[in-house]
Amino acid sequence: MLKEISLGLGAALLVFGLTVGYDLTPFVFLLAFGGALYFLVYSKGMVKTGIGNSSTLPKRQEISFDEIGGQDSAIKELKEALDFIRNHHEIKQLGIRPLKGIIMTGPPGTGKTLMARAAASYTDSVFVSASGSDFVEMYAGVGAQRVRKIFQTARDAAVKQKKKNAIIFIDEIEVLATKRGQNSSHMEYDQTLNALLVEMDGLKLDDNVRLLIMAATNRVDMMDPALLRPGRFDRQVKVDLPDKKGRLEILKLHSRNKPLAQSVNLLQIARETFGFSGAHLESLANEAAILAMREGLKEIEHRHFHEAIDKVIMGEKLDRRPNPEELKRVAIHETGHALISELARPGSVSALTVTSRGGALGYMRQNPEDDTYLYTKDYLENQIAVMLAGALAEEVVYGSRSTGASNDYEKALHTAQTIIKAGMSRIGVVSLEDLPGDLKHTLVSEILQEQEQRVMAYMIAHKIFLTSTMDVLLEKEKISGEEFRSLLESQTAA
Ligand code: ATP
Repeated sequence: MLKEISLGLGAALLVFGLTVGYDLTPFVFLLAFGGALYFLVYSKGMVKTGIGNSSTLPKRQEISFDEIGGQDSAIKELKEALDFIRNHHEIKQLGIRPLKGIIMTGPPGTGKTLMARAAASYTDSVFVSASGSDFVEMYAGVGAQRVRKIFQTARDAAVKQKKKNAIIFIDEIEVLATKRGQNSSHMEYDQTLNALLVEMDGLKLDDNVRLLIMAATNRVDMMDPALLRPGRFDRQVKVDLPDKKGRLEILKLHSRNKPLAQSVNLLQIARETFGFSGAHLESLANEAAILAMREGLKEIEHRHFHEAIDKVIMGEKLDRRPNPEELKRVAIHETGHALISELARPGSVSALTVTSRGGALGYMRQNPEDDTYLYTKDYLENQIAVMLAGALAEEVVYGSRSTGASNDYEKALHTAQTIIKAGMSRIGVVSLEDLPGDLKHTLVSEILQEQEQRVMAYMIAHKIFLTSTMDVLLEKEKISGEEFRSLLESQTAA
C-alpha cells in the first residue's frame, strides 16, 4: 500500500514540476539512484528470493517411501517419528509435546531430500523446501526475515490447500545453524539462527496448521547445540550409504522404467559399486541407458551398466589420446596394478583400460568381494602393493618411472598412515598427530619399502607377461577381469 501511495505521489510531483517549468534532471537522477538501491536491497532480500514459495510440492511430484531403496532402518525410524503427526489426537490426550524437528544426517546423495518429500506424502502435508544457503545474506536481518517468511509460506500454503500439516525442509542446514559466534559475519548468522529457534519454540500442537521442520546435513558436528536440544530437532535419523542389498534395491528402482536385456545382472553391479550413493546409482542406470541408445539398441545390456560404472567413477571419456609411446607406458602401468591385485586377491580385477577418462589416462578397477567396513593389516598392505605396482611395472619394462604414479603414491602414503594410526605399525598404538615428523616419515617409508621390494620381485618374474598383456590391451583398449585372468593362467601354464 505504502509503495503505491509513494509511487503516485512521486508521479504527481513530477508532472507538477514539468508544468511549472522546473529543471528536473537532479530529481530524476535521485529517483533512479533510489530505485536501484531499493531493487538491490529488497529484490535480493525478501521479495524475489523464492524462499518457501518455489517448492510447494504439486500433487504429481509426490513420492512414497516405497520409492526409496536401501534405507529400511532410516525409514522405519522416520515413520515412527511421523506417526506422532498422524496420530496427533492420541498425542494430545496423553499430553505429549509435539514433535517439532527431525534432522537427517548422512553423506550427499543418499536420499535425504527424497525422505523429506515422502514424509510429506505420508503425513498428508504441504511440502516447502529451502537450502541453508538461501538464508545467508550480507545484509543484516535478511536471513531472519527469510526464516519468518518460510514459516508463513508453509502456513499459507496449507490453508490454501486445505491441509492440516506442513513440512518445511531445510537442506544443508549447517550453513545457517553453525555454532553461534563462529562465523566471520556472525551477527547476521546468529540472528538467522535465533529467528529459527524462536519460530520453532512457538510451534504448538493445537496450531491451525501443524508444522514440522525437517533438516538435512552431512556436518552435524558443526551444528549449534541449541538446535539439537530436546524440543527442537530432537530426532536424528541417520541416512547412510546403502549396503549391497540396498544398492540392488536402488538399481531395481531406477531400472523399472528401462528395458533390460537378459544379460543384465543387477546383483553383480550392486556388488561392484561399494561406496556408491543412491544418486550415483541413479546416474549409473541413466548412463547405461544412454550408452545403449548411442549404439542404437532397444535394450540395455550388462556391459552398458559395467561401462557406466567407469563413467560415474571417472567421468566422461575424453578424446585426448596420449602418443603411442605414452599409451604403451599407460598399458604397462595398468597391467602392473592388475597383476598385483590378482596376486593379493584372486578374482579382484574387474576391468582395465587405456581409455582416458576424467583426469586419468587409463585405470584398473577392482571388484570389491563384499562390502568391507574393517580392514586388516594384510589387506591394507596389499592395497599399498597394488598402488605401487603401476610405477614398478614401468620401471621393470622401461627402466624408469613417470609422473603418472603421483596419485597412486598419495593413496599409498595415506594408507601407510592409516596402518600407523590404527596401531598396526612396529611401534604399536600411538597418536599419529603427536609422533615426531622424522619418526612418522621413517615408519611410512619402512611400510612402503617392504611392499616395494615384494612387488618388484614379482614384476621382474612377470616381465614377459607385462609386455604381452600390454599388446592385448593396446589392441582392445579395455579388457575385463575374466579376460585378464585367462591371460594370466595361460602365461602360468606356459
Ligand atoms: P544432498 O545431501 O546432496 O542434498 P540427498 O541425500 O538429499 O543429497 P537426494 O537429493 O534425496 O539426496 O537424492 C538425489 C537423487 O538420487 C534422487 O533424486 C534419487 O534419484 C537418487 N537417490 C538417492 N538416494 C536414493 C535412494 N535411497 N533410493 C532411490 N533413489 C535415490
